[in-house]
Amino acid sequence: MHAYRLFADGPRLVADQPVPEPREGEILVKIAGAGACHSDLHVIDATAADTSFFTPPFTLGHENTGWVAAVGPGVRNVPIGEAVAIYCAWGCGRCRACAVSAENYCEAQQLLLGGGLGRDGGMATHMIVPAARYLVPLGELEPRDAAPLTDAGLTPYHAIKRAAPLLVPGATAVVIGVGGLGHMALQILRATSAVRVIAVDLSPAKLDAARALGADATVLADGDALARAREALRGRAADAVFDFVGAQSTIDLGRKLVRADGEFAIVGLAGGVMPYAQGKIAWGARVSTPFYGSIAELREVIALAARGDLRAHVTRFPLERIGEAYAALHDGTLDGRAVITPNG
Ligand code: NAD
Ligand code: ZN
Ligand code: ZN
Repeated sequence: MHAYRLFADGPRLVADQPVPEPREGEILVKIAGAGACHSDLHVIDATAADTSFFTPPFTLGHENTGWVAAVGPGVRNVPIGEAVAIYCAWGCGRCRACAVSAENYCEAQQLLLGGGLGRDGGMATHMIVPAARYLVPLGELEPRDAAPLTDAGLTPYHAIKRAAPLLVPGATAVVIGVGGLGHMALQILRATSAVRVIAVDLSPAKLDAARALGADATVLADGDALARAREALRGRAADAVFDFVGAQSTIDLGRKLVRADGEFAIVGLAGGVMPYAQGKIAWGARVSTPFYGSIAELREVIALAARGDLRAHVTRFPLERIGEAYAALHDGTLDGRAVITPNG
């Protein structure tokens, strides 16, 4: 089969990757869609610099949907042909966190592995999923366009749910970076709360899209971003700030915007450092670095999408044009998410 694999010297499309056979407990999924996430660019860069957590080679693509193609021995109640979302953080399955389906916070693994992150992922016609619990039925959702729900939807959903006690009517949330994750965050805030939402981005086109998705105010992240954001906040501080960039400039912006006893969730992995000390952020503000979400939360995200309250803006690319998808992601010119469709 064709697969887009990351090697020590960079990623490339290969034509001769064998279609894997599902072993005991495993499921073979025919891929419908594999979203291109900015984390892939971080992993590709880290691999080139020899600082990656993950050992190449492996097939990229951790944001996947597809159809069950075959099941290994011992797998029951997984119908062949069923359209499924694939949960991407594969834990030990036995620890306290995994027992409540929060495999994203597995206690037994220092380093989380998943398909597309250390193990073979979805940028191929087929992939192996190691256990049936990672499959969530998609119902009537279009499988290709649903792929971003598994990360670009799940990760902000989890961050927003953790901040839910603060997100009351009259409160304000700031969303920094309204790309793949951020454009889903805006919709999730709209669908699950009555807060005022302020969107921040470098790109005027992304801010236009953010207004169309219900942002009440937008702020261009240039040199005046702090003053403009304070204006948009009408002189108050934000109840919650969600940073979907994680660069030094966005962390420094976010920590200055959040109110005392508020929440600052740093989701982006761009390598900025939060100076966590008295005086660097309002008193009592909680700083967190949420990572994906639980399997139960993926079901909630899919339910939100099934209601019509959450929909990724998707541009589809065939596997042969994957280079264009990553170039557009890198350049910030996508509307929403690029989804690779290896089976057309
Ligand atoms: P993306 O490229 O689709 O979106 C990023 C957005 O941020 C773009 O709209 C871009 O214009 C904007 N941006 C970039 N620099 C900015 C700045 N300095 N100020 C304001 N806006 C800026 O990326 P994505 O796929 O949505 O991923 C976002 C980040 O989240 C990445 O760092 C990714 O690795 C990370 N991520 C984290 C998790 C997690 O579990 N913690 C999961 C998925 C992705
Ligand atoms: Zn991702
Ligand atoms: Zn575990």
